[in-house]
Amino acid sequence: MTETQQSGSLAGQALATWQMVIGDARRDASSGEWIDVVDPGLGQPFARVPQAAEADVDDAVAEARTSFDDLRWRGWSADRRSQVLWRIADLVDRHSAELADLETRNQGMPLSFASAHVLPSVARTFRYYAGAVERIEGRAVDLAGPGTRRFHAYTRREPIGVAGIIVPWNGPLLSLSWKLAPALAAGCSTVVKPAEETPLTALRLAELCLEAGLPPGVLNVVTGVGSRAGAAIAAHPDIDKVSFTGSTEVGRSILQAAQGNMKKLTLELGGKSPVLVFEDADLSAAIPGAATAIFSNAGQICTAGSRLLVHESVIEEVVSGLAVAADAIRLGYRTDESAQIGPLISQRQRQRVDGYVAQGLRDGAEVVTGGAAPEGAGFFYPPTVVTGVHPSMSLVREEIFGPIVAVMPFADEAEAVALANDTPYGLAGSVWTEDIDRAHRVAGLIRAGRVGVNVHASPDVAMPTGGFKQSGWGRELGPDGLEPYLETKSILVAVDA
Ligand code: NAD
Repeated sequence: MTETQQSGSLAGQALATWQMVIGDARRDASSGEWIDVVDPGLGQPFARVPQAAEADVDDAVAEARTSFDDLRWRGWSADRRSQVLWRIADLVDRHSAELADLETRNQGMPLSFASAHVLPSVARTFRYYAGAVERIEGRAVDLAGPGTRRFHAYTRREPIGVAGIIVPWNGPLLSLSWKLAPALAAGCSTVVKPAEETPLTALRLAELCLEAGLPPGVLNVVTGVGSRAGAAIAAHPDIDKVSFTGSTEVGRSILQAAQGNMKKLTLELGGKSPVLVFEDADLSAAIPGAATAIFSNAGQICTAGSRLLVHESVIEEVVSGLAVAADAIRLGYRTDESAQIGPLISQRQRQRVDGYVAQGLRDGAEVVTGGAAPEGAGFFYPPTVVTGVHPSMSLVREEIFGPIVAVMPFADEAEAVALANDTPYGLAGSVWTEDIDRAHRVAGLIRAGRVGVNVHASPDVAMPTGGFKQSGWGRELGPDGLEPYLETKSILVAVDA
């Protein structure tokens, strides 16, 4: 266990102290500094993790580099690597209750959601890529040139090297699994930095990976703040690739930092995804569908349907139905079995969300329901429906990452598509209609990486996900999710020399 002892005290509460996993060591930060980890449902710290500095990142990268160079993982047979990934999935299943408990304490999502959805998806991701290990293949090539020499020519797929993995707080363990499982499947060695708000399940997963037989050094976890530990990973000359999920703004700074050694990048960034409800939609499905699209995980989902575009003939019915659905959603502490959504991640995030609503009101928008934080402990914020918005308002243009939906009318399909695409983002979208031609036509016209028809699609490990435009570079999940961790090498063997 990395959770070594009970120590420290804040507001009279004992804090569980965790350590980083670097090589085969469990370590505090070289600076001796710590980060308090807060339960967002109570607004109180309950644990602390080391605050890694550049020197700690250097050590983690050195361990990863050594493990890559000495072939202790990538040199294994596909079958042997696959078995380790499969065992990681088994251990995730076996420790599901413990991991769900940690994840919800740290992130705030209801325990029932973590147990029923998050943990099974994490295990499934490791199993999917356990299978993928055995399908990493090169090909034999008949050369196209006119020369008379003969060659045996073939390609090999090789791991890209040391991968830096930086993840956010909104789905800590799941977003880590989407990167770590394919990186390990490819044979990479890794340095992981979880979000400073939610570091615990990454540390626990690292222990399970070692228990599953992953050689020490192949997975290193540094805990620290983005501007130090994260930035050090992004700029590190000995890291070959960075896979980052987070805000578009930080994605841009990673792009700059990665220039030094021309790191390959996968960027899964922000979104402002549209939900299009046409006049012929089945509203009994579209209204709850639109509510789920924005309010799940308290709106802290990159693909959240935060812009609801509705045909003008049905907008009144949709808005009143959505308000009823919003009011019926039960906010609660993670262990409350009737809770459907939990708190926002932090007081800072709640102030940010509230700021967008206040700005919207100043700009002339109207709050139909929600729009004010409740009294009491925790960083809760109610599902909020806003109308009277204009495409130029910050509420409509910027990613809020909270349970706020902006509703706008459209007159026809062309206007609906134009509004849907009037955003710098392009992560997801959904089309609600009973007209099959329109469904496919509009799905094809929305400029986003994932579009649902009569569903605001949740991801599946077999389906690639990622962003058009400023929502990112590259794809995760499915066969596409393995590609960013592989290089292709061409080998030519002269056979007639
Ligand atoms: P964030 O960008 O602030 O932080 C994400 C991670 O990056 C954290 O681990 C943080 O410590 C680290 N980081 C911060 N500054 C850094 C720097 N200068 N260099 C390197 N790393 C740095 O994002 P957040 O507020 O933690 O998460 C919310 C954002 O994540 C939202 O914008 C959301 O859309 C996005 N997100 C996107 C996806 C996706 O798949 N596209 C999924 C989940 C979240």
